[in-house]
Amino acid sequence: MNKAELLQLLRDPDICKEIFEIVKKGGKPVVETPKFTSIGDKLKHMYPNAVATQQQPQSAQPTSTPSTPKLVVDPAKIPPSKPEEPQSFSSIADKLKFLRGHVHKVEEERLAAEVAAQLTEAARPAVKKFTVVTSKHCPICERSFRVIKPKMRLNVEKRDLDYCVHYKDFDPYLYTIFACEHCGFAAEEKKFSSAIPNKTKGILREFLTENDMSLPFIEDRTVEDALNFFELAILFSELTDQSKGRQAMLKQNAAWLCRCEGLHDREHEFMKQAAEDFAVALDNERWPINGITLEMAMYLCAATHFMLNDYDKATLWIGKIMNKSTLRTSAPKLFEQARDMWQDIKRATKE
Ligand SMILES: [Zn+2]
Repeated sequence: MNKAELLQLLRDPDICKEIFEIVKKGGKPVVETPKFTSIGDKLKHMYPNAVATQQQPQSAQPTSTPSTPKLVVDPAKIPPSKPEEPQSFSSIADKLKFLRGHVHKVEEERLAAEVAAQLTEAARPAVKKFTVVTSKHCPICERSFRVIKPKMRLNVEKRDLDYCVHYKDFDPYLYTIFACEHCGFAAEEKKFSSAIPNKTKGILREFLTENDMSLPFIEDRTVEDALNFFELAILFSELTDQSKGRQAMLKQNAAWLCRCEGLHDREHEFMKQAAEDFAVALDNERWPINGITLEMAMYLCAATHFMLNDYDKATLWIGKIMNKSTLRTSAPKLFEQARDMWQDIKRATKE
């Protein structure tokens, strides 16, 4: 079925509504997250539909991928598919191809949902009310690409111990990761503003060219879109700077997104990974990283362990901060927050 035939089909309000409901259900992430032994296992669990799509015969598709995504909607692909047999990734290239395939599939589903929503006059998410599309320079392909940013000061609802901010009406963590629609490079905003060594640029250019990594521009990101971009950013870090500190912050940001969106199992998984990476980076890497000081990272490490109910490790890290004699004068607010957490840990361990 081509797009024109689909549009004809969607003129029937009943069919349209039904497809819209299926797409909405099919696009939902799997919430229950078991323990994973590798990122490949995690991705298979997170994106079962993408695995199913990858395993379908490609006879009707050209062998080469076009530079811009081809958004042809096939209703046969719309109903949610069952998770397939586990698929292992033999290389980082395979992982990236898998992620890219999923991003394109999600975009197809989103397009179908949009068409259905327009024809049934269903209200679209009011996300555009809060965002603006602007442009950014990509240091890898040297072209301008579109990014989405909050266009106004957002109303804060509350702040958590680990600095996660809950906003009213809109979740800006959906747009933490910038993704170049031309070459496919994805990273946090700071990475696009800071200098990237020529050697790293060379590695990324070669890799992105070999894997044809152009990504669709998605203005209204779903949680799945945003988590895919987080995974891409983490993989690019693994491929280049291998900074556990940076990866810890990316994983912590992904956990914040999951928390704000109510995906608590996945939040927990990202927090555990972030806590482990923080601990490794605090012992082995030079700080500051991405503007986060050593003391701030210690606090985040302690807070993350505390929120995971790992009081021993939380005590260990908060103790290291409190032992820094200059913290009270150099960073008084952080000192107070660390002292408060120390009290919270003591209270929690007495209960
Ligand atoms: Zn680029």
